Amino acid sequence: MKNILITGGAGFIGSHVARQFVENYPNYQIYNLDALTYAGNLDNVKDLDSKSNYHFVKGDICDEDFIKELFDQTHFHGVIHLAAESHVDRSIEGPKVFARTNIIGTLNLLDNFKGDLFYHISTDEVYGSLGNTGLFTEQSPYKPNSPYSASKASSDHFVRAYGETYGLPFIISNCSNNYGPNQFPEKLIPLFIKNILEKKPLPVYGDGNYTRDWLYVKDHAAAIDLIFHQGKVGETYNIGGFNEYQNLNLINLLCDQMDQKLGQHGSRDLIEFIKDRPGHDFRYAIDASKLNLELGWKPSLTFEQGLSETIDWYLSHQEFLKL
Ligand code: NAD
Repeated sequence: MKNILITGGAGFIGSHVARQFVENYPNYQIYNLDALTYAGNLDNVKDLDSKSNYHFVKGDICDEDFIKELFDQTHFHGVIHLAAESHVDRSIEGPKVFARTNIIGTLNLLDNFKGDLFYHISTDEVYGSLGNTGLFTEQSPYKPNSPYSASKASSDHFVRAYGETYGLPFIISNCSNNYGPNQFPEKLIPLFIKNILEKKPLPVYGDGNYTRDWLYVKDHAAAIDLIFHQGKVGETYNIGGFNEYQNLNLINLLCDQMDQKLGQHGSRDLIEFIKDRPGHDFRYAIDASKLNLELGWKPSLTFEQGLSETIDWYLSHQEFLKL
């Protein structure tokens, strides 16, 4: 029997990871530790409540005494660490909570972990920005530009340092932008679905030519499962969708799919260009070939399919857009 602690499992990606593990590994006991901040939502995991191998624990990873007690009570063979402050715009308004949760919270977990694998979930934003060409590889230097990415970069460094200094068995993965069901409606895709439904403006930073790589959240959860079980300890893996989109092209596609599903037209007219975000990274693009070649992973859906499934989910869960 294995005890696995998933942190941040009531959030967007964490809820899909929790479901992936609870459903696929009935012999594991899955503990979902989440502070239920504005981004955490128990409805994201309510279908798991009835499963005998699932346990929800409400708690803050920054609370040193609480974390020590939790790890004293239960031996965790593995930790999959997703709990974080995750929204770049919020990090520009107030960086300190990002340092507290993403760095100090991570240290509390590292200090108490005595199991076989500490798997730290991180972002491609730690690598900074690309020009028109090139891809981030696992060897790319860290050059974070936002308080969010600086806090994630710092936590990555601490995880690696605990490996070198104390022999902590760790893996880190750095993933591109996720989209899909259960994403809090402050992020681009759910926010724009909401605004299209409410016929409100679609605010686009700068001239809309920022480029991101997009990955369907369930494909990220499947990659995390594979890396957790077959990845090499001490290694980093980049995870990406092989799917670069300029923001404006993505928004046009979203408008067109929404119009088609709702039997209407004209959503593109809601697009409004607004003043750029400070420190805005021009382009992120991930080279995920190590994960593909070594572990045989690739995304299961095209972006058009994933976006269509995402829209369908939000249309049938409109209460989620009102959070
Ligand atoms: P999210 O904001 O949707 O969820 C974060 C979860 O962490 C929430 O449930 C929240 O309640 C919980 N949490 C926050 N502070 C906590 C604390 N102090 N103690 C315990 N729980 C706390 O985030 P997400 O988009 O699901 O991202 C999850 C992880 O994946 C993060 O580490 C993020 O950096 C990383 N990541 C996200 C993306 C993306 O596109 N969303 C891409 C790559 C990596």
